[in-house]
Amino acid sequence: MIPVTKPFLPPYEEYQQYLTGIWERNWLTNNGPLLVKLEEDLKHYLGVKHVFVVNNGTIAIQIAIKALNWKGEIITTPFSYVATTSSIVWEQCTPRFADIEATSKTIDPRAVEALINEKTSGILATHVYGNPCDVEALQKIADKHGIQVVYDAAHAFAAGFKGTSVLNYGDISTLSFHATKLFHTIEGGAIVTNNDDLAARISYMRNFGHKGPTEFVGCGINAKTSEFNAAMGLCILPKVKDLIAKRKAVFEKYNELLKNTPLVSLEVRNGTEYNYAYYPLVFPDETKLLQVVAALEAKEVVTRRYFYPSLNNLNYVAYEPCPISEDICRRVLCLPFFPELTVAEQEMIASVVIDQF
Ligand SMILES: *Cc1c(COP(=O)(O)O)cnc(C)c1O
Repeated sequence: MIPVTKPFLPPYEEYQQYLTGIWERNWLTNNGPLLVKLEEDLKHYLGVKHVFVVNNGTIAIQIAIKALNWKGEIITTPFSYVATTSSIVWEQCTPRFADIEATSKTIDPRAVEALINEKTSGILATHVYGNPCDVEALQKIADKHGIQVVYDAAHAFAAGFKGTSVLNYGDISTLSFHATKLFHTIEGGAIVTNNDDLAARISYMRNFGHKGPTEFVGCGINAKTSEFNAAMGLCILPKVKDLIAKRKAVFEKYNELLKNTPLVSLEVRNGTEYNYAYYPLVFPDETKLLQVVAALEAKEVVTRRYFYPSLNNLNYVAYEPCPISEDICRRVLCLPFFPELTVAEQEMIASVVIDQF
């Protein structure tokens, strides 16, 4: 069986060394030394001012919405994982769906501007598959209307744009460190900001609102991360560069193997330092996509319709048409993509795909 993704595990002995320290200190969670070190290392690695590691990428989005005190309407993308939309609804705000650009698959700034009204609090956009949004156009719109921007950067760990981390754009960026992501802490995520006031709010919000043992700054939640999770992150972070280089080779091999098909591979925005997070393909039509899914399944190759359905179709949101997102959701498929995928496996997968055309 070839899975669509494979969580990266470091050598067992490396993780075990951290476990020894945890046993010696008997300090398991609550801002332990491994978590503090991971946050410092992440700030350095990503080149950002504040990093708050939390227990998943979804709570990171929810805390971002709370920290900005967003109410009313949030303009968002229908082309993302469900957590982007569900976090908005969970925080009692209303998602307004702006359609995407067909090539980049990120939110279309013109569609965003068309939705802005007096109820708009901000923009929550996703850097899709690690491809950055049109961050400059979105910032211009946000500044013009006096609203803020949060990026769901769950796919964008280590991605760069115009010489800096993509996380340096917008008011807040959120990351997911789930096991299937490029960098992970088994379960986990982070909230990134360069704004000191927001950082102060986020730091108490993720820990019940505590300021010292008996004082509370405001309402908070439990988004704390354990030393076991932080240890996994500390093992993987030094390997990220190498993992991305391996992913790049797999990505380019797929492109080469599939170049004579009508399938469209991911084209990243000019100025992007890509992180090779996913390998999505856009098919000519859904029938062909389903045929390929079935043919690969017969060979025990798992693919994923990521993303499907378009989030404006969820049964707990008010539907508004987003024809480009709905069309691409029907026609996009992610192939197995992880550093250890062998050339022989890629050749087998590609030949099954090519046979359907
Ligand atoms: C994975 C993911 C999330 C959710 O992150 P979790 O850590 O699983 O909660 C949110 N948005 C996007 C785009 C994702 O891919």
